[in-house]
Amino acid sequence: MKGCPSCGSVDKHGSGGPFTTGRELVEFVYNAHEGTIRDKLIEGGGYETVCQGCGAAFTMKTHVSRCPECGGVHAIAPIHKSAEHIQFAGKGVVIE
Ligand SMILES: [Zn+2]
Repeated sequence: MKGCPSCGSVDKHGSGGPFTTGRELVEFVYNAHEGTIRDKLIEGGGYETVCQGCGAAFTMKTHVSRCPECGGVHAIAPIHKSAEHIQFAGKGVVIE
């Protein structure tokens, strides 16, 4: 059981959670709430960002988004409200 990305609680859920970084955060958001968080639209239309793998500009519209150029997986936990909290899974990492 992993932490809740909406409330940020990790006390009840053990390790992992919305304050981790990199691939751990991406996998956390991807799997959170049986996968219903990852396809949820980000409030306000999403975040303009730059791929942390290849540098291409794109817009994150859902909480887990792929770079249109290289397919790099990025994620942001819903409790965070700015693009600086976007985490990158790593080059060549495919999240299933
Ligand atoms: Zn990219």
